[in-house]
This record gives sequence, C-alpha cells and structure tokens, in this order.
Amino acid sequence: MDLLIGGIARPAHDGATLRVLEPATAAEFATVASGGQNDVDAAIRAARTSFDSGVWANRSATDRGRVLLRVAALIRDRSEQIATLEARNAGKPIGDARWEVNAAADVFEYYAGAANKIFGETIPVQDAGIDMVLREPVGVCALIVPWNFPLLITTWKTAPALACGNSVIIKPASLTPLSALKLGEILVEAGVPEGCVSVLPGPGRIIGDALVSDPRVDKIGFTGETTTGASILRASSENITRVSLELGGKSACVVFADSDWEKSAASTPMAVFANTGQDCCARSRIVVEASIYDDFVAAFTRTTEALRVGAPLEETTEIGPMISAAQRQVSLDYLDIAAAEGAEQVTGGVIPDDPGFYLTPAVLAHVDNSMRVAQEEIFGPVASIIPFRDEADAIRIANDTPYGLSGSLWTRDLGRAVRVAKAIRTGVISVNTNRSVRTEAPFGGYKHSGLGRELGMHAMNHYTEVKNLFLSSE
Ligand code: NAP
Repeated sequence: MDLLIGGIARPAHDGATLRVLEPATAAEFATVASGGQNDVDAAIRAARTSFDSGVWANRSATDRGRVLLRVAALIRDRSEQIATLEARNAGKPIGDARWEVNAAADVFEYYAGAANKIFGETIPVQDAGIDMVLREPVGVCALIVPWNFPLLITTWKTAPALACGNSVIIKPASLTPLSALKLGEILVEAGVPEGCVSVLPGPGRIIGDALVSDPRVDKIGFTGETTTGASILRASSENITRVSLELGGKSACVVFADSDWEKSAASTPMAVFANTGQDCCARSRIVVEASIYDDFVAAFTRTTEALRVGAPLEETTEIGPMISAAQRQVSLDYLDIAAAEGAEQVTGGVIPDDPGFYLTPAVLAHVDNSMRVAQEEIFGPVASIIPFRDEADAIRIANDTPYGLSGSLWTRDLGRAVRVAKAIRTGVISVNTNRSVRTEAPFGGYKHSGLGRELGMHAMNHYTEVKNLFLSSE
C-alpha cells in the first residue's frame, strides 16, 4: 500500500518500503510504503495549505458533522473487511477486532454530533460591551499512534481533530499501518478535503521526529510509551507545540474480601490478558485482601487456564499471539526476573509449538509491590497478584507506581468504594467492573501515564484554541 499525502496515494519519495508481518504466522503479510523527510514535508505543506485556506475549518460545523457521519457509515459498511485486516495485522481475536471496528464507527458518530456543540462563553467583564470566548481549531495536528489498538486509537484523535476543523497527519506504528491507511481512504471518500488528510507509515525516529520538531505543526497528539512521550515533550518545547500524551500504565485491580470476589476472579483475567496483555489499561497488578488471597489466586488461575489461546481468525479464540517475537521476549524476561525476585509462577508463560508469536497467560502469586514485575509496564500476558492487609495498605499499594492510568476496585461497601476510588491517583477507576474506556467519557492518565484527556467532550480541548473577543459598546 502507498502513503496517503494530502489525500492522494503515492509511494515514498525515495521508494522505501516496510514489511508488515502477520503475528499469527510470523510471515510477511503486506508491503507498505515507508515515508521519509521529503514525505513529511509534503504532508505538512498539504495540511498547512488546506488549513490556512479555511476549506475545512470554515465549513459550517454541522456540515463537518455530516461528513464525519459518512465516515462512520463507511466504516460500518466495510467493518468485516477492516476487522479481518486488523485481526491479521495486530494478531487480535476476530471478535475483538469486530468490536474495535464498531467502536471506531461509534467514535466518529459521537464527534459528528459534537462538531456543532463546541460552545463558547460570554463573560460579564467590567468594561462596557460584550466579552466572548470563542473556540477555534488549532491547525495542523500530527497524530502518532501505537500498534496495540491501531484503528481505534487513531479514531480517538482523528475524529475530534476533524470535528473541530483541523487538518490531520496520522503516523501509524510501523508494525500496524494497514487500518490507518484504510481509514485515510475512507476520510477522503466521505468528503474530508484531500489536503486535510495524510497517513504516513515509516520509522518513528524519522517520521515522528520530523513531525514533532517542525514549526508548521501546531499540535501533537501521541499515544505510546512513556519514554517516547517524554522525548516528544522535549522536542516540542523548541516550538512550544501543543502536546497531549496517552502513555503507559501499571493499573491496579483492588479486591476486598467483602466483594463478590468470585465474580472478580472470573472476569479480571480478561482485564489483564485481553489483547494478549498489550493494553495500556491492563490490570497487571491484582491487589487482593489477605483473608481471601489463596482462594482468589486459585479461582483466578482456573479462569486463566480456561482461556482459549489460538489463531486470530478462529471465532472461539480469546487470546491471540503477541505483536512480535521481541515483545514476547520482554514478557519472558520479566518471568525470569519475577522468579529471581521470589514470586511464584502459578501457570502460563509457555510458548506453544507454533511459528506465531504466542505465549500462554502467566499468573504470578506472592508478588511484593516493590518487585520489578509490579513496578514496570510489561505489556504482555503477565498478571501479578499482590496481597494486602487493610484498606490503607490497599491504597498505598495501588498508588505505589509511577503510573496512574486506569484501575478498578471490588467491594460491597459503598462508603469504602467512595473512599478508595477517591484515594487512588488514577485517571479512570471503575467499581465492581473492570471496563475503563467509554467513548462518551474522558480517558487519560495521572503521573507518568500522560497529559490531557481523550474521548468525550474533553478531547475537544486538545483540538481547539481559546480566543477571547471583546466587542465595545462605547
Ligand atoms: P512507542 O514505541 O512509543 O510508539 C508509539 C508511536 O510512536 C509509534 O507510531 C512509533 O513509531 C512512534 N515513535 C517512535 N519513536 C518516536 C519518536 N522519537 N518521535 C515520535 N514518534 C515516535 O509505543 P508502542 O510500543 O507502539 O506502544 C506501546 C505503548 O503504548 C505502551 O507503553 C502502552 O501503555 C502505550 N499505550 C498507551 C495508551 C493510552 O491511552 N494511555 C493506549 C495504548 C498504548 P514506530 O512504530 O515506527 O516506532
């Protein structure tokens, strides 16, 4: 597949390509054009020219919303084709891929409706006249996304950016560029002006660096590792470019003895192992009250061992392969570290006899929160179960991490639910369920998990500038 520059498909300027693998087979699946400096320059020129011309920003907000509704409809029309592509490229079970494609259409529908609900304010100032606050588009938005939810995370940024009237340049992860390229085609087909849409696969250190350091780019929306986010923040400081960051996580699921803990033990394994653990929201630390600890570990392990690991296109598969051999090796290395630190590996961590990048879900018991497996983001199918003594100890452990993205707690005591939910420093927390992400509600992290919030109307803040306009009556 070609790059999409200013809405037009073309090969990379220097003819470079990248090989895309299928994680289930480890074989080559597609060849994609790989952008370089010249392609970044062309994409920024197209985005800048179309933004400055007002071709999209000056369309009525209602009209922009109608175009985004067409995007959603085209995604739904092609959902099976896109889901199959995503399942094969990212190694996702087909059922999960279908859910994600449906959720991607939901995101466009939400922001289609949001486009004409970006309200300003009037302010009762002391001077005679009317003081108004206007929300205007930021300009050229570089949107850099990871490989774990390639299409869905692209839509979290692209839909609100376009709803607000911006131009977008999407930089997908090198491992998973295919669904973002498909989305780019759909955006143009639905009626987003060509110049407002570019999709640039290619190495992050070239494309990403070039986008981040270019003064013609007004805004960077990034999802990925905390270390990459920190380097983007440094690079963007030169031009004071607006930056929002969705970064790593090490979220806790806190289970009190007074909860329906059997229900938690039945559902929490998929809160760690879904997407083969490659999920920023993964509840990779399960913090369990000491009095139920052994029973909980046994029940959690039974559920884990019943999960169906298999080929992404098999309808019954619950856990697919990991994205790459390198990513799998990271998990294997952490299992060695856990053993050396004294944790007990109860199950999993096995590589089946298969060329794909499979790894069975691993459960670690008797983990202390100071161990590296409890402190560092593994981004693989490894769950650490940590005992706690009392409510204060549970809160201390949940907060004892550099991250603060997601989390859940299980209790039947409403007062405790309120106290603990307020005390845990995290961007999202759920009580008696492990779901964290809802299209209509803000999502993002405290501490090293990021800056700013995506989804819901909060995302509009990233993609608008605030202008104060005063009309004098004198
Ligand atoms: P990553 O290595 O940081 O890469 C993310 C994106 O940044 C890719 O497109 C990558 O391109 C690009 N990139 C790499 N170096 C860059 C640079 N110097 N400047 C600009 N862009 C650069 O992250 P990943 O391994 O793909 O994703 C896993 C991480 O994402 C995990 O830490 C996970 O927790 C986090 N994540 C967070 C959220 C959230 O919402 N908080 C959601 C999902 C994932 P290449 O692919 O070409 O290297």
